[in-house]
Amino acid sequence: MSSENNDEPTLSPSKKSSNTNTANNNNANNSDSESDVNNEHLIGNVQRVAIVPPNYEGKPKKGHLIFDASFECGNLGRIDYVNDFEYDLFIRPDTCCPRFRCWFLFTVENVKADQRVIFHIVNFSKAKSLYRDGMTPIVKSTSRKRWQRLPTRNVFYYRSPDHRKNYVMSFTFCFDREDDVYQFAYSFPYTYTKLQNYLDNIEQRRLDYVQRRPLVYSVQKRRLDLLTVANPALLAKGRRKKVVIVTARVHPGETPSSYVCQGFIEFIISDNPIAQLLRDNIVFYIVPMLNPDGVFLGNQRCSLLGFDLNRVWNDPSIWAHPEIYGIKTHIMKLNEDADFELDFFIDIHAHSTMMNGFMYGNVYEDANRFEKHSIFPRLLSRNAEDFSINNTTFNRDALKAGTGRRTLGGCLQDSTHCYTLEVSFFSYQTSTTTQAIPYTEELYQQLGRNLARTFLDFYKSNNYVSWSPSCSIMPRLKEDRIKSRLSRQSANMPIVDQDEALLNNEAYNLSTQEFIYPETRNNNEPE
Ligand SMILES: [Zn+2]
Repeated sequence: MSSENNDEPTLSPSKKSSNTNTANNNNANNSDSESDVNNEHLIGNVQRVAIVPPNYEGKPKKGHLIFDASFECGNLGRIDYVNDFEYDLFIRPDTCCPRFRCWFLFTVENVKADQRVIFHIVNFSKAKSLYRDGMTPIVKSTSRKRWQRLPTRNVFYYRSPDHRKNYVMSFTFCFDREDDVYQFAYSFPYTYTKLQNYLDNIEQRRLDYVQRRPLVYSVQKRRLDLLTVANPALLAKGRRKKVVIVTARVHPGETPSSYVCQGFIEFIISDNPIAQLLRDNIVFYIVPMLNPDGVFLGNQRCSLLGFDLNRVWNDPSIWAHPEIYGIKTHIMKLNEDADFELDFFIDIHAHSTMMNGFMYGNVYEDANRFEKHSIFPRLLSRNAEDFSINNTTFNRDALKAGTGRRTLGGCLQDSTHCYTLEVSFFSYQTSTTTQAIPYTEELYQQLGRNLARTFLDFYKSNNYVSWSPSCSIMPRLKEDRIKSRLSRQSANMPIVDQDEALLNNEAYNLSTQEFIYPETRNNNEPE
């Protein structure tokens, strides 16, 4: 988590005097986001910059904070000294696209023990935020490596008269250990390197039902990994097979989507009997990171070249959007191959203003098709307590025509279901409680596992797979049940054996009266 080098930090004279609030750099005369984001000094991340008081000369002393974001996924563009306790922090806009500013990740060191500070993050690109609902930044340090959320009492989100009435998120913090490097983030980071290590580990297990290959390379030549998970016998040529495609992280700042995707992969490659049954019957194609360059660079929404890759699906360019071009070509080939029956495309995102997990689906004129399209979200809501059917909406807004969900929903066969799966950056409420439960890395992964389990429900409901108690995997199932029950007991989690309930349930009856989704206008834009 420390910076890549231990060079002497750059000394940065204060941008703003404590008395006058006047910037002394060339072309900014206030801290307004629109004027600042167009300034050259917000193009790159800060690189071990020591913030010292005005007119201070010489080496930085202990307590002159050193900020750094020059590492993978880092994002912090500028720091203004306000006074000895307060600092204005500027998010670096996406590369080649100044519109998006939300993700931040940076380190602070050279602190004095018990040094108290107030950090103001002053240039978010959007006013509406889960900070209004109690979300807080996360923090860890070299001696305490587990991410913690700051208490809500230390975090303030408000319109600031000092920043042209922009929305500002301020938080107070006390550095308690002099030698620690502290790291602050918008959400749990998940780097390109972390994904590569995770996939390398899977490869080393030499599972005959998992294949990994780079589908294409990004503009900066990073891998767009494609995992194929299926019983090898199923992949034989000439054998007809059903296909599920799961993608994630087209938007780099939406790190929770990577945790959901990892939970999905973890489950689907496990020796859990449901996973085995699914692999025997379904081919899973998974692209865990659709925008590896954007992730590496610490962008919020765009690729290296400044494109929102979830708006180019209708006409991806091989040179400007090779990632979408590659996956779309792969999908269209499957769509035309008589061996493959493409049932699902699910693209995982994270949402910055909504609670819970939920889905965006498509609207179809054909009532029967639309009805079938609304089944999967309802099944998922039965398996995942954090998945909200109330937040799930179906739309055909022109604004979203270039999303994977909309484009593929319009050009694949009628039987293919295309969804965006969203998960909150912050928390969820269950149907029985009013208290919000903040998501953790583990809870995000749990949603991924529950997503995987739901395919069993779906394929049982249309009698494509069946569960027989005489099945040879039954004894292992029992062991698994005991193991999972014990772990839930020790983790103080409710003892509800989902696998057991799922497998022994009678085939789910898809009565159509229960769900009539009206077409809803999309009231919470991102996707
Ligand atoms: Zn998104």
